[in-house]
Amino acid sequence: MGRKIIRNSERCAGCSLCVLACSAANFGVFSLGKSYVFLERDDRTQKFVLTVSEECTLCGECVRACNYGAVEYGDENPAR
Ligand code: SF4
Ligand code: SF4
Repeated sequence: MGRKIIRNSERCAGCSLCVLACSAANFGVFSLGKSYVFLERDDRTQKFVLTVSEECTLCGECVRACNYGAVEYGDENPAR
């Protein structure tokens, strides 16, 4: 069974640490624009929306960086 990064946007505080952690781990820079996880704010709901790129290497740095439990490892097909 594969693993993937699960996003719990409801818990996200918008601190961007996950974005920077991914950027540092995968690109060697601290950049909000150079990362496999992206953060946007929904203008209507005012909630943060996380997107994980298909190029995500599952390194787990975003999971370790988040203090809010908003990104975690999960099973690709939890129903199986
Ligand atoms: S698990 Fe994926 S999204 Fe998270 S830091 Fe690693 S490459 Fe980036
Ligand atoms: S997922 Fe966690 S680390 Fe990333 S912006 Fe939201 S609260 Fe911060």
